[in-house]
Amino acid sequence: MRFEFATSNRIIFGAGTLPEVITAVASLGRRALIVTGRNQDRASKLLELLSSKGIHPTLVAIQSEPTVKEVLRGATQARTNDSDVVIGFGGGAALDGAKAIAALLTNPGDPFEYLEVIGRGAALPHPAAPCIAIPTTAGTGSEVTRNAVLASPEHRAKVSLRSPHLLPRLALVDPELTYELPPAITATTGLDALTQLIEPYISCRTNPMTDALCVDGIRRAAGALRRAVEHGRDVAARNDMALASLYGGLALANAGLGAVHGFAGPIGGMFPAPHGAVCAALLPHVMEINLHALRTRAPGSDALRRLDEIGRLLTGRPQADAIDAIRWLRALVSSLQIPSLATYGINAPDVAAIVTAAEKASSMKANPIPLTRAELTQCLEAAL
Ligand SMILES: [Zn+2]
Repeated sequence: MRFEFATSNRIIFGAGTLPEVITAVASLGRRALIVTGRNQDRASKLLELLSSKGIHPTLVAIQSEPTVKEVLRGATQARTNDSDVVIGFGGGAALDGAKAIAALLTNPGDPFEYLEVIGRGAALPHPAAPCIAIPTTAGTGSEVTRNAVLASPEHRAKVSLRSPHLLPRLALVDPELTYELPPAITATTGLDALTQLIEPYISCRTNPMTDALCVDGIRRAAGALRRAVEHGRDVAARNDMALASLYGGLALANAGLGAVHGFAGPIGGMFPAPHGAVCAALLPHVMEINLHALRTRAPGSDALRRLDEIGRLLTGRPQADAIDAIRWLRALVSSLQIPSLATYGINAPDVAAIVTAAEKASSMKANPIPLTRAELTQCLEAAL
């Protein structure tokens, strides 16, 4: 057995830990740049904390998903203002934007040099500027991953900037920041977290450390997601979802993902659909196809045992199996009112192009078994 496990230098987890950012910023740099989502008001508590200590950061807002142009502009702004530490505060888009800006701040030049799929995918030559990642949703786990998903509207693509240098110096996860999240966002981000625990658990790159995180994370998310959606102020549920999201990030960064994310990348680049909702719409269908493909072509695969285990973790029933897992997920997706992919304008004529792009996606390589084009097509059609 040989495996590697890499993560952020330091992780702080706990309700009410946000003020700890002050000493962290002071230890990492002199001037901060804060990257937020569209609504900068949500960062007011962070700004108050920093200004009480005489830290007056520059602000950059990511409108929806970070684009290559936006992060280039952010890096230029950071350079102009002499910023030497970047704080990402928000959902996955803000965190990915911050990580990419921190990387481009110290690696000037054409970002396409470093982008995978649509760029040259070259290694980043210099370490990124120190980055602090503070998630305000419980879903992406981006605070502990080594990639930033960037959109390139001219390519109609969403691709990753990927490097060990992208791991933040500090991941600060304060579940209190998620208490006010509306139910719909809690649902879609939470389903992303759950998908990011299930895919690394059955991937072809599993290891015992990620397994431990996935097992505990799947159990926590299964018990907490509905409660967090229905009662936003359920402190225990919010805590569990924040942990599940963190575990998902740790797991995917070290064990990879699978076909759900293989599809979600290209779909996100081609259609304005929320990532978590796309993952949720696909997850039961991908599990079904994986189950069928494994039973037919790799009946001895350990992934089959793992799919049964997911059934037990989700349902809490010791006799449950993979079919129960799929049933449980279908019921969850329907009770959380996750729409089908057609709602986002994805229709039958788009299937071939999405499948072609998904075949090349890096997440697809970690799927427990290579899926044929016919299987990918069947699975996507079922999610429309
Ligand atoms: Zn995801």
